[in-house]
Amino acid sequence: MAMKIKYADIIIPAAVAGTYTYAVPASLTGAVRRGSLVTVPFGQSRAVLGLVIRVHDTTPHGFEIREVQETLPAEACINDHLTDFILWISDYYLAWPGEALKAAIPSADVLPGRVVRKRKAGSATLNGTGVMAPVILTESQGKVFSSIKELFSKHEVVLLHGVTSSGKTEIYIHLIQEQIDLGKQVLYMLPEIALTAQLIERLKKYFGDTIGVFHSRLTPAARRDVWKRVSDGTLKAVLGVRSSLFLPFKELGIIIVDEEHDSSYKQYDPAPRYHARDAAMILSRIHGGRTLLGSATPSLESFYNAKEGRYGFVELKSRYGEVMMPEMIIADTRSFGRREKMVSHFTSKLIDAVGEALSKKEQIILFQNRRGFSPYLMCPDCGWVPQCTNCSVSYTYHKGIGKLVCHYCGKNTKIPSECPECGSASLSTRGFGTEKVEEEIRLLFPSATVARMDQDTTRRRSAASSILSEFAAGDTDILIGTQMISKGLDFEKLTVVGILDADNMLHFPDFRAFERSFQLMEQVSGRAGRRTRRGKVIIQTADPSHMILRQVLKHDYMTMCTTQLEERSLFGYPPFTKIIRVVIRHHNQDDLNISAARLAASLRRQLGRHVLGPEFPLVMQVQRWYIKTIMIKIDGTLSPSRVKDVIRRAIDAEMKAARQGSLRIHADVDPQ
Ligand code: ADP
Ligand code: ZN
Ligand code: ZN
Repeated sequence: MAMKIKYADIIIPAAVAGTYTYAVPASLTGAVRRGSLVTVPFGQSRAVLGLVIRVHDTTPHGFEIREVQETLPAEACINDHLTDFILWISDYYLAWPGEALKAAIPSADVLPGRVVRKRKAGSATLNGTGVMAPVILTESQGKVFSSIKELFSKHEVVLLHGVTSSGKTEIYIHLIQEQIDLGKQVLYMLPEIALTAQLIERLKKYFGDTIGVFHSRLTPAARRDVWKRVSDGTLKAVLGVRSSLFLPFKELGIIIVDEEHDSSYKQYDPAPRYHARDAAMILSRIHGGRTLLGSATPSLESFYNAKEGRYGFVELKSRYGEVMMPEMIIADTRSFGRREKMVSHFTSKLIDAVGEALSKKEQIILFQNRRGFSPYLMCPDCGWVPQCTNCSVSYTYHKGIGKLVCHYCGKNTKIPSECPECGSASLSTRGFGTEKVEEEIRLLFPSATVARMDQDTTRRRSAASSILSEFAAGDTDILIGTQMISKGLDFEKLTVVGILDADNMLHFPDFRAFERSFQLMEQVSGRAGRRTRRGKVIIQTADPSHMILRQVLKHDYMTMCTTQLEERSLFGYPPFTKIIRVVIRHHNQDDLNISAARLAASLRRQLGRHVLGPEFPLVMQVQRWYIKTIMIKIDGTLSPSRVKDVIRRAIDAEMKAARQGSLRIHADVDPQ
């Protein structure tokens, strides 16, 4: 009897739907199974890396069948859990399966079995085996620890709301220890690479070599090493950013998502546009494990899920050591201005507090959520503002490099010597960014040591961690920064935090602006006075009676949640609806308008009033692409998976109808 030919359905890393079927040569039949990574010919390419989803013996018809070329070593195999996860990501986030595969395997470099060089000692892993026992939890921490475990018997997900410095991290450490003792693996997620550096020092004291770090700034060799050791189970715990969800865990007992409210958990570009917090819950479910979400300021989505009983909920209300929450002070920039008590952008309240802290050898953080020197330049005579020619936004002035820089496309240009509109000889700076704050603080406090942390000062691989470790060591008195300095940091001598421009956050045109402002202010203020000294937070604003500021003053997270949830419900925003945003881009504005209108009409025929737009976004042109967006709001009357089918088909039809080179359309599910 002739042996039947075997076929394999394979995901190809390309922008194509579904899987492709290849024949499995007899020599490979034993080695090709679900989860195998193989090379196959695809289009003009001789060999691309593919993931086998299914092996069967149904001969496909209607196209020429090509053969699988080779299989990668078994140790580079994608296990069933990860395969399921890749398929879920692709389906839920409307990404091509190949895009989801690429998120797991950005290049064959990360896979073991193709190792050219030997593993470098200590590259991604940690040296030092001196393993300490976790600290003894306080009574209230111990109670929270027990109730988390109890809640896990009824809920897959538990939300831990613990004020800043309450000891959430210590509780995580106990949970990790417990899972390791059970022989299971743990993923501990943070929203940003900079945070992993500070925390790993603390974790390796307890877990030595059994914990590893994972993020995109590791060398390929280091990544490969983590991949391999996660896969063979020698690595028990991983501290990582969102991409660590795609590591080949054998059996995850728990995923801890710290700072769960943070919008950096959402991947925007390239696809798959996944939310790592939400995806973590699915990955845990696939492993039969649990998810712990932690934050001092949980997202409204998570809080609402907890309130509705879908998640377990625990609270840790006081700081460790009964340290008081910082004193919150509002500094009104208007009245101070009138009484001429402002020195440039600083109120006298802020300057006095900084001076006092310096005299006591304490440290200060100044927060301004804009980088560069000033957000724009303006002609004082005619009002002309220099704008990027690729994007419809004004250039930011960077004094250090003496250039105008576009924060959307990175283009830079020199400063015009005169106004091209009216010939006026000087342009004036408007508003202020971190670079200007730094310059002025140095003038005001010439003997203080000042450092700045933002995208511009942290381009080098190690820059962020060295700025932070110098501050931690007390070598820096004043640290100025953007939202990069708002999170997770724990410094002993830090007592004063200044928020220089609260209004700029509050009035950002987004339905999450109030929630975000509260979170950001509460998080930055949480950095102050975490040990013995009570901290002081000075918030500068021209709108001191703003509802959100009142809530920040009292650290009143619950009232913020209740009032914001009312608003969301009233206007039909998440968590009461789900949003999918369709983004249409074109080099030609007229063609963009035509495609966007046609796509919206097609969606509207099927989804009716749930379709809003098309509209130009805040910045309507980026890197020479004109942009329009369509928003789809899914309420309880629609099935999300049906809506996704409609969107998939409508996008497909429009891409075919337009037939022009430069049209691009993608969907963003649960945009942030
Ligand atoms: P959070 O993660 O909630 O911001 P941390 O876990 O970082 O808080 O705790 C704040 C500080 O208090 C840390 O320096 C931590 O080591 C210390 N701490 C918290 N709980 C304990 C404990 N039970 N014993 C000793 N130190 C503790
Ligand atoms: Zn002018
Ligand atoms: Zn630009």
